[in-house]
Amino acid sequence: MIDASDGVKISLGDLEIACDSRGGGQADLYFISHAHSDHVAKRTLNSKILCSRETASLLINRFLITPKISDELELPLKLISSGHILGSSALLIEGGQRILYTGDFCLEDRFFLQGFRPPRAELLIIESTYGKPEFVFPKPREVIKEAKDWIECELRKGNSVVAVGYTLGKAQIISKLLEEISYPVYVNEKIAWMNKVYEFLGVKLRNYPVYESTSKPFVLINSPTQDSPPKQMKRVMFTGWALRGSLGYDKAFPLSDHSDFPSLLKTVEKVNPQKVFTFHGFANELASELRRVGYDAISLKDGQRRLLDFFERD
Ligand SMILES: [Zn+2]
Repeated sequence: MIDASDGVKISLGDLEIACDSRGGGQADLYFISHAHSDHVAKRTLNSKILCSRETASLLINRFLITPKISDELELPLKLISSGHILGSSALLIEGGQRILYTGDFCLEDRFFLQGFRPPRAELLIIESTYGKPEFVFPKPREVIKEAKDWIECELRKGNSVVAVGYTLGKAQIISKLLEEISYPVYVNEKIAWMNKVYEFLGVKLRNYPVYESTSKPFVLINSPTQDSPPKQMKRVMFTGWALRGSLGYDKAFPLSDHSDFPSLLKTVEKVNPQKVFTFHGFANELASELRRVGYDAISLKDGQRRLLDFFERD
């Protein structure tokens, strides 16, 4: 019924649905929870795809491939906005036993993103990126305020700042965070393009120009993999991993697009499942904590073989 050798594969009778396949296996339908490249196998984009309208637009703009969106609406499948990035969705399968596949998700509202509202399901497949008790994030609005204050303080001192976050998703949150700053803000070319796609999809963002050298204090929103900016700039990173230190940056803020450990537990409580599978990140740790508090939980590991056995044992 469930297989984790290539993303997470769910079999419903004759129909095989591959969730966030990396392209290794065959399926009848490929569900893409969101447009981050680690969730998209280009090979599958010519197959039948299930994703949100926003994810389809982002796929077209990122990979220059038009996905074949499935219109098999007779299937008992529902997409539920998951609050990770624009267009991110969880998949709810309602035929008989209700199965919820979360994909990456975040419960917290952030600017234009509404947090995930998990529905009830008997079987839950939940991401566990931060599935360890040490990961407890402060509220996004507190982190946003603190980050704004830090950046403004550096600018007032005459220091320019590079604000780093991944190109799709985090860079648009940082774009919003910097809207009230009274210093020039620039972006790299990829982020400028992604911001335009967001605008096209209805998210109002300030139109920041692509970076050109200037002597005045300014902020550059940059991607983690982009060329290093001019020296003497202060570098600030936005990621949940900031709880573990400044990660080689001058400052790091724990502004995450994932759920922290307490939110993962809260999600499981809300879904109230009979069986839980955890995947990604600290999958073992989350599964063992869930077992400790009474859930029937097990971790799915990348490359793990069929898990039919677990069901047959039930
Ligand atoms: Zn993601």
